[in-house]
Amino acid sequence: MSPLLFRSTNGQSPSVNLREAFLAGQAPDRGLYVPERFPHIAPAEIAEFAGLPYRQVAFRVLRKFTDGVIPDDALAAMCDRAYDFGVPLEVIQRGVHLMRLDQGPTASFKDFAAQMMAQMFGRFLQEVGGQVTILTATSGDTGAAVAHAFHEVPGVRVIVLFPLAEVSESQRKLMTTLKENIRTVAVDGKFDDCQAMVKRAFADPALERIHLSSANSINIGRLLPQSVYYFYAASRLAWPGEPMVFSIPSGNFGDMMGAVVAREMGLPVRKIIASVNDNDAFPRYLASGVYEKISPSRNSVSNAMNVGHPSNLARLVAVYGGHMDETGKVHRPPDLAAMRRDLFSTSINDERTRTSLREFWNKYQILLEPHGVVAWQGFLDWCAVEPLGNTPAVIVETANPAKFPEEVEKVVGWAPDVPAAMTAGLQQTEDYDRMGADYEAFRAYLLARHTR
Ligand SMILES: *Cc1c(COP(=O)(O)O)cnc(C)c1O
Repeated sequence: MSPLLFRSTNGQSPSVNLREAFLAGQAPDRGLYVPERFPHIAPAEIAEFAGLPYRQVAFRVLRKFTDGVIPDDALAAMCDRAYDFGVPLEVIQRGVHLMRLDQGPTASFKDFAAQMMAQMFGRFLQEVGGQVTILTATSGDTGAAVAHAFHEVPGVRVIVLFPLAEVSESQRKLMTTLKENIRTVAVDGKFDDCQAMVKRAFADPALERIHLSSANSINIGRLLPQSVYYFYAASRLAWPGEPMVFSIPSGNFGDMMGAVVAREMGLPVRKIIASVNDNDAFPRYLASGVYEKISPSRNSVSNAMNVGHPSNLARLVAVYGGHMDETGKVHRPPDLAAMRRDLFSTSINDERTRTSLREFWNKYQILLEPHGVVAWQGFLDWCAVEPLGNTPAVIVETANPAKFPEEVEKVVGWAPDVPAAMTAGLQQTEDYDRMGADYEAFRAYLLARHTR
């Protein structure tokens, strides 16, 4: 069978297979790659997943995309290596579960994509030969997950840009203590500045001789692994064919796009709830049909979601038949009525985030952190509009509370235990470079490091 092809959301670059889309990161026309068609998984197959461990569910879902590009036995081994941690589904109340995606090596859901991407880079680079430099802008968790996943992967160098003032101490230490093939750059600016610097580097002809690639939300390899856990949850919590509700704390909208991909592949979904913090460009767009990015992005306690212009919206708009370019300009509107039918979006400010965190603890004796609780509160907002009834619901918790000890302690009065996987890294010495939000300086930095 010929491999599945991926097209650019900007429509100006030719379609490519998964390997090419993956190694390029972004399409040459600055669009994002999306599948030309979505492979299908029937309810009976989803039901079979109920008896499989996570790594095998990942294999069964991802092989639909890797067919003809990665042999099945190789993919199965890659999934085994990537996913050696659990995905707990905790009962909150009857029919409502918390899916904890915080059991990976850096205690955030970013590990799900990063672990698999490291496997894929390893394999694809072996096939095509050569070296690649992965440039990543992070608002905290991506950098840590990518740095851990790619640490000592042959042929790969990683450069992580992060906004110095916007990441928590443990987020920073998880990426600045690894060294070897991992370089971290603290930028005196915001996440948006870091992301803009990375985007310019990709489009810069002066950097052509450096093979740059991306592990950010713009890479299709980041998105596909994030569809797997929705199938996993459904196989365990819903009857075959029974639609579900998912509430997802959203920043760059990669996680929620994983749910959209799963839905396009046939997973029965009643509603996808994209809950955001003060960066409310998407809920406003859904309500008004007019897209206005938030610039500069707004700071909030759920700092991994401080994204003023979520890059995955270009993909979402494409799935719904429209065209949004990388700057956020809508050239052809998507089917807004269909979007409103399938999606709900709400903005939770810091005050409600803190109140909700405390109330959730008091009511259920389950500790959340500032991102997961945005999803919980967004779920409550939706329930106030559309009664849940008997629909099974999943609230996605994207990080371990121990990554945000200051914030959690302020609200509940004590600091959460640090998981063993995290403690080792936190004790190492840090090493990072510093830079202003200045593209020329960043280009010089890249060129200097490349010739060395
Ligand atoms: C990155 C991140 C998010 C947001 O995910 P997106 O895919 O960018 O929407 C939410 N919570 C945590 C803890 C994160 O690290």
